[in-house]
Amino acid sequence: MTTSRSRPSYDPAVTVLEHCRSLVRMDTTNYGDDSGPGERKAAEYVAERLSDAGLEPQLIEGYPGRANVVARWDGREPDAEPLLLHGHLDVVPAQADDWSVPPFAAEIVDDYLYGRGTVDMKDFDAMVLSVLEARQQAGWLPRRPIVLAFTADEEAGSRRGAHWMVDNHPDLFADCTEAVGEVGGFSTDVAGRRLYLIESGEKGMTWIRLIARGHAGHGSMRHPDNAIARLAEAVAAIGTYEWPAQPGPSMRQLLEKVRELADSPDADPDKLIAELGPAARMVGAGVRNTTNPTMLRAGYKVNVVPGEAQAWIDGRFLPGERDDFVEWLRERAGPDVEVDIELEDVALEGTFAGDLADAMVASLVAEDPDAHVAPYLMSGGTDAKAWHRLGIPSYGFTPLRLPPDLDFTALFHGVDERVPVDALAFGARIMDRLLDRA
Ligand SMILES: [Zn+2]
Repeated sequence: MTTSRSRPSYDPAVTVLEHCRSLVRMDTTNYGDDSGPGERKAAEYVAERLSDAGLEPQLIEGYPGRANVVARWDGREPDAEPLLLHGHLDVVPAQADDWSVPPFAAEIVDDYLYGRGTVDMKDFDAMVLSVLEARQQAGWLPRRPIVLAFTADEEAGSRRGAHWMVDNHPDLFADCTEAVGEVGGFSTDVAGRRLYLIESGEKGMTWIRLIARGHAGHGSMRHPDNAIARLAEAVAAIGTYEWPAQPGPSMRQLLEKVRELADSPDADPDKLIAELGPAARMVGAGVRNTTNPTMLRAGYKVNVVPGEAQAWIDGRFLPGERDDFVEWLRERAGPDVEVDIELEDVALEGTFAGDLADAMVASLVAEDPDAHVAPYLMSGGTDAKAWHRLGIPSYGFTPLRLPPDLDFTALFHGVDERVPVDALAFGARIMDRLLDRA
């Protein structure tokens, strides 16, 4: 059934700033060990807004204080396949001393809203709430049914959030055919033009512990069997390796677009990615595996050779590369260093084509006629990995039109995380358009 009624007039962005500020002021810091405040307060705030707007949200908690919210929103075409909109409610810690403003005060300075979560990802949560309220008030449903999910624990691997929900309440999402969430939809400057990057895939991760063992003893004697020296060789062999660029389908689409915008004859992926300016550091990790040593542990006194030394590697691999990647790590570590996989998660990549991709592009262009759009493979992981277990492909699309000189990707988990106030309204208007087109 399709209604022929046309879209009434309303402002989908009217409450986006207020909701973003309210959510930032609710400290939902996730330290990764349940010692933080949890997401309950923010979840209650969201659930209340959803109820007030006429939905029937469920507040679901698998662990005390680690609350998730799920609600269904009817579509004008009730038989259409539901779209999942998902935003996490937790944030990473913020060291207040490093910031120029208090990180949970939601202060506005020079037309930027500052605060932990303003880009990751209470901005998206606020856009969804604002669009929902405006549309419900105007009596204008989305085209297709929407499942709204606000999750806990994304910043620590979603074990108390999206993954837990998929394990325990898969029925809430089972009929969704696609999902839209974070880390995409923002603009970056390429040769003076605005290129919006939409996440169409995510690298996989393997967090590795290296363990070297040797002969313990007095630091003054000969020790050819030294665990620290052995470990250091392995860490250097892994950490200094320069991974070659191997762009997959999404990144090839992006590189083609950059070539066109920059009018560049170059085919070298890294030279093209450099055209993205500050975003190149993140985007450049989307064309290659990475292996960064991040922690070391060994020894307790300068004149004692310890019997064991450990190091940790944050490994991220491209889709399809997992087995070769782990094999490579073992080879590089050498026969005498144990390689222990402590945590891993899959790599994903969807094709950036079809109705939803078209709807995202059209919604962007409708608000920013100068918009150019390309997909990209994201270097980190999100709740998309959990929905993937239900066969739901997810796109990163939190639309933000940004000033060309802003080093936006550095703001994720960064000091002075902030979002232009007008970009929040821009994002809400695009999300609103998406709900009619998707
Ligand atoms: Zn995030």
